[in-house]
Amino acid sequence: MRQLASIQKIKHLEAIENAEAIERATVLGWQLVVKKGEFQVGEMCVYVEIDAILPDKPEFEFLRPRNFRIRTIRLRGQISQGICFPLSILPEGTAVEEGADVTDLLGITKYEPPMPAQLAGVAKGLFPSFIPKTDETRVQVLEGLLEQYAGTTCFVTEKLDGSSATFYWKDGVFGVCSRNLELIESADNSYWEFARQRNLPEKMAQLGKNMAIQGEIVGEGIQKNKYKLRGVTVFFFNAFDIDAYRYLDFEDFLDTMVTLELETVPVLDQEFVLNPDIPALVEYAVGRSVFNTDAHREGVVIRPLREQTGHKLGRVSFKAINPEFLLKYEDS
Ligand code: AMP
Ligand code: MN
Repeated sequence: MRQLASIQKIKHLEAIENAEAIERATVLGWQLVVKKGEFQVGEMCVYVEIDAILPDKPEFEFLRPRNFRIRTIRLRGQISQGICFPLSILPEGTAVEEGADVTDLLGITKYEPPMPAQLAGVAKGLFPSFIPKTDETRVQVLEGLLEQYAGTTCFVTEKLDGSSATFYWKDGVFGVCSRNLELIESADNSYWEFARQRNLPEKMAQLGKNMAIQGEIVGEGIQKNKYKLRGVTVFFFNAFDIDAYRYLDFEDFLDTMVTLELETVPVLDQEFVLNPDIPALVEYAVGRSVFNTDAHREGVVIRPLREQTGHKLGRVSFKAINPEFLLKYEDS
C-alpha cells in the first residue's frame, strides 16, 4: 500500500534565505531541498519518500554513507524530506504518468527498525488474513482526501514509537501478533507476557464476539524507551469487529477498552475539525510526549470520530510526523 517512490510534479520552487546553491521544492505535501536550477516548476520528477531504502547501484552511490536510506535532514535551516531525481533514473521506456508508483520498478524497499529479541518471538504463522495489519498513511500524500473530508470532526492521538501489537479472539481461539506475524506463546515474549498479565484471553472471550484489538507496545528495551517508562505496556488504538470486518467507532472503542481494563494511546483532542492545510497539520504534530515532556513526540494520528471508508486508501486515518522527532532520532 505504501508508495515510496512515484512520478510527481514539482509544485513550487522557492528561495531559501542565505542559500545560493539550493532551493526549496514542494512535491505533493512534502518540502525538500533541491539544487538550484535542477528542476523547473511543473516539471515531472521521481520523488522518493523518507524511509525508502534505495538499491546498491552506482547511481545511488552518494547515499552509501547513509546506508542508502532517505531520511529527514536540515540544510541551512530548511527541513528537507525526501529526494527528487530526474526522470532519467527510470528504466528506458517507462510511461511518464503523474502519480505512477515506481517503488518496485526502482527496487526500493521500506526501512523497518530492527525488532528487539523480547518482541521477535517465534512465528506461528503469517499475520491472520481476517484482521488488517496496522499502518498509517503520511498526511503529505493525502491532499485529495483532506479536501474531501475537510470539516469532519476527528479525534487526535499521540503516535507512540514502539512496535505494533495485535491480540484477537476468534471462534474460541486467542492469538497474539507482532506487526507482521502471529506468535507462538512463550514465557519470555513481551507480547504474550502482557496478554497473560492482563488476562486478555479470558477477558476477550467474555466479550462474546470475534474481536481484535491493536496497539503499540512500548517501554524498557523497545525503541530506546524514549519515554523512559517502567516495564513494558501496550497502549491501544484500534478495536476491530472481525465478523463485520470493520473498526469500531471511537466511542465504542473507548467502551471496549474500559471493559477490557486496558489503556489507550494518549488522546490529545476529541473535537478536532479537519482542516486540509498540510503544513499546518505538520506544525500541529510538533510537541512533546504526554508521557515525558523531555521527549519530542513522534507525531499524531488523526481519524474521524465515526469510521469512514470508501476512499481509495480504505480507512480514513493518517499520521502527521513531528519533523523535530525525525531530526533527533532518525540517525540513531
Ligand atoms: P509507522 O510507525 O511510521 O510505521 O506508522 C504506523 C504505525 O504507527 C502503526 O502500525 C502503529 O503500530 C503505530 N502507532 C503508534 N501510535 C499510534 C496511534 N496513536 N494510532 C495509530 N497507530 C499508532
Ligand atoms: Mn512506528
